[in-house]
Amino acid sequence: MAGKEIQEMKGSEGGARRRRRWAIAVHGGAGVDPKLPLEKQAQAEKILARCLQLGVAALRSNLAAVDVVELVVRELETDPFFNSGRGSALTRKGTVEMEASIMDGQRRRCGAVSGVTTVKNPISLARLVMDRSPHSYLAFHGAEQFAREQGVETVENAYFVTEDNAEMLRLAKEAGSILFDYRVPMAAGCRAEAAAGEMNSLPLSVYAAETVGCVAVDTQGRCAAATSTGGLMNKMEGRIGDSPLIGAGTYACKACAVSCTGEGEAIIRSTLARDVAALMEYKGLSLDGAVQYAIKERLDEGKAGLIAVSSDGDVACGFNCVGMFRAYATEDGLFHVGIWD
Ligand code: ASP
Repeated sequence: MAGKEIQEMKGSEGGARRRRRWAIAVHGGAGVDPKLPLEKQAQAEKILARCLQLGVAALRSNLAAVDVVELVVRELETDPFFNSGRGSALTRKGTVEMEASIMDGQRRRCGAVSGVTTVKNPISLARLVMDRSPHSYLAFHGAEQFAREQGVETVENAYFVTEDNAEMLRLAKEAGSILFDYRVPMAAGCRAEAAAGEMNSLPLSVYAAETVGCVAVDTQGRCAAATSTGGLMNKMEGRIGDSPLIGAGTYACKACAVSCTGEGEAIIRSTLARDVAALMEYKGLSLDGAVQYAIKERLDEGKAGLIAVSSDGDVACGFNCVGMFRAYATEDGLFHVGIWD
């Protein structure tokens, strides 16, 4: 048992339990444009700090980790700044197909959805799949039907489409590119510049950010993870990324919880989230050791990042691309919001 346990408490089963230290981390996507305007950086940091505070308050009031990650991701989905819920990336047809997953590490239960087009908060639908369906993963028509049966809030698909993202899609199409990091060469005429390593900045008005995720460990040492996204800008209809895939974009067990972001295809190839847990479980690595090993040894260069917490109340993050919107806090007093390395 770790030396970080700090006091005895009564467990829900009535037995004596050791109180653990809570920790929480949030991300708003990896692969940030290095020329992201300062006001957009400040806006991202403000939203992340607000959502982190929400999670911290929930952990302090003894909400279970799985409830905390759902709560925080709902908040991020509702804010159009990030690529999830309202503000989701668009398919090449200009529609929104969202996906999300959640995992409760203590009980090793999970729920996921893909191809969701009208559900206001896909993370809560994923939670319902976990809690109220006999399955782990529902997609497209079946997921929408389940949403109706459960009475979750739905809206028109147009609600999720923002002006910025419509413009971003136009630029992506012009450049013939599928985007995960928004560093798109703006037009065919700019390709030489891009090839020379000088990527174009997008016009100020069309900057957007990316996939969201939250991991938390509560005072009973229960770990949980949640991830939600619109996927990649200009993606094919029907494309499924890492975010709803348990073990790729999201994973939680008794040791840790992990949420990934970046190019989904690369994260899927790496089984990134599960690898972090496996490195802890099978190799006995620390949380940070496992995160850094997985990023360095398993992931293609420049592709992605992740946030993680351990049941001991540690927090870690890592990425091998230019930046990652992230924020984390621990009971020990750590409070950090950042974008760059
Ligand atoms: N991982 C997400 C996807 O590939 C994108 C992101 O993290 O921004 O769908």
